[in-house]
Amino acid sequence: MYRNALSAFSLNIATLCRLLSRTMASDTVARFDFLVIGGGSGGLAGARRAAELGASTAVIESHKLGGTCVNVGCVPKKVMWNAAVHAEVAHDRTDYGYLAGNAQFSWHSLKSKRDAYVGRLNQIYQANLDKANIEAIHGLASFTDDLEPTVEVNGKKYTAPHILIATGGRPTVLSDQEVPGANLGITSDGFFEIDTLPKRSVIVGAGYIAVEMAGILSTLGSKTSIIIRQGEVLRNFDSFISANCTRELENAGIELWRNTQVKSVREMNHGLEVTLVTKDPEKKEEDLIETIEEVDCLLWAIGREPNTSGLNISQMGIETDERGHIVVDEFQNTTRQGIYAVGDVCGKALLTPVAIAAGRKLAHRIFDSKPESKVDYSNIPTVVFSHPPIGTVGLTEEEAIKSWGQENLKTYQTSFTPMYHAVTTRKTQCVMKLICVGKEEKVVGLHMQGLGCDEMLQGFAVAVRMGATKADFDNTIAIHPTSSEELVTMR
Ligand SMILES: Cc1cc2nc3c(=O)[nH]c(=O)nc-3n(C[C@H](O)[C@H](O)[C@H](O)COP(=O)(O)OP(=O)(O)OC[C@H]3O[C@@H](n4cnc5c(N)ncnc54)[C@H](O)[C@@H]3O)c2cc1C
Repeated sequence: MYRNALSAFSLNIATLCRLLSRTMASDTVARFDFLVIGGGSGGLAGARRAAELGASTAVIESHKLGGTCVNVGCVPKKVMWNAAVHAEVAHDRTDYGYLAGNAQFSWHSLKSKRDAYVGRLNQIYQANLDKANIEAIHGLASFTDDLEPTVEVNGKKYTAPHILIATGGRPTVLSDQEVPGANLGITSDGFFEIDTLPKRSVIVGAGYIAVEMAGILSTLGSKTSIIIRQGEVLRNFDSFISANCTRELENAGIELWRNTQVKSVREMNHGLEVTLVTKDPEKKEEDLIETIEEVDCLLWAIGREPNTSGLNISQMGIETDERGHIVVDEFQNTTRQGIYAVGDVCGKALLTPVAIAAGRKLAHRIFDSKPESKVDYSNIPTVVFSHPPIGTVGLTEEEAIKSWGQENLKTYQTSFTPMYHAVTTRKTQCVMKLICVGKEEKVVGLHMQGLGCDEMLQGFAVAVRMGATKADFDNTIAIHPTSSEELVTMR
């Protein structure tokens, strides 16, 4: 008890001293050991780990704590995907012997619950900062032209010997010059503001956000089209997955417009009119012009851009690439000493756990005397919450050929209908592929799409990371009856 009281007392004295030193060091500049710009996945993880390691820390956030993932990304998206999975199960209920009718779905009611959950997470993040004695500064940060790296927020200045930029990214928005009427559409941010289920949705884009949002909207009952510039979605995935996912979208009733771009958008009495141009890839035929009418949800999912524009980083000598991403080395150092960057703003592996790991590893390197602490960017597992979900880790076959040569590779693949569908009229496929290298057949790539593949992947990612061979997979006794057993019985 005495010890507890004493440690609480010394903690308060320490906090007081820190506050005093910040204000005494300069009348106008508040000083910390670690100053983090951006209270999203990477920034909060780095800040909390640094504070745990004894660093006086502040986080500057212009919007809501939690960043993209919590507010307009992974979290609300997964709630919507879960709702869509319920719709699929509801569809299959009668096949499983449930004879009563299906309950009605209310998007509005789900949205209220989802928003309340996100609101609770925002509060938890604030409470976590308070508990860790991290100062939360609300406002938009930009670097000043002071000699010492300094950041200004709402007219106040802040500095630290170590400054982390973790400002994430935002959806790419087209201008009306590029596509007349483009601004009548929304982005993934706007998707989370939709209050009722759209009747007619058009999603533009072929990346994972386009695939996920089209899947959610279609499964929940919106007539949905995807507009893609080339022949398939997810073109940076293994071609086996890209082809299968494209098939599954069509199988689920989503209309796919290949080799197509939006020409213009007009507001009409009954919603938007979206005009499309479809090009013949072999140029045998004229471009085809078509329109989709009465669209009440046009969603642009055409990529993301780094949040660097208002930061004034160029005057700091911080290098960016041609798309504005901050250039960092393997230790997350920018080209300016004492300034680091993690997460989406660096443009590499745009995933929450990657940003979190980078923030934490950096804190250990700076404040825990661990000079070698850094993220290993190889073998990062990724899931796409499509219908059914995709799980992938390691190299695609195309990448493996480049690294090892076709002659050193052996691939195994399978395709089957999961047992869940034994009694359902609705069907999806499960496809799996292993890419193995060398005589020992080390597994360097694992790609799958099918029911349960999202939850299946994490354990297999550990195996791939540990250097498992095909023989290790084969010597593992299967779990029956599951889809995952196919991964250890492939021939
Ligand atoms: C629709 C969608 C679905 C996604 N789904 C998944 C998923 O299922 N799994 C997954 O792993 N990842 C997913 N992601 C990606 C994931 O959200 C990001 O990789 C992750 O949030 C990146 O974290 P970050 O810290 O780099 O940036 P962010 O989380 O974006 O945080 C950056 C923060 O910085 C703030 N900021 C920006 N500029 C300033 C400034 N000048 N001053 C002060 N504050 C500033 C922003 O307001 C923001 O809060 C998804 C993303 C989207 C858009």
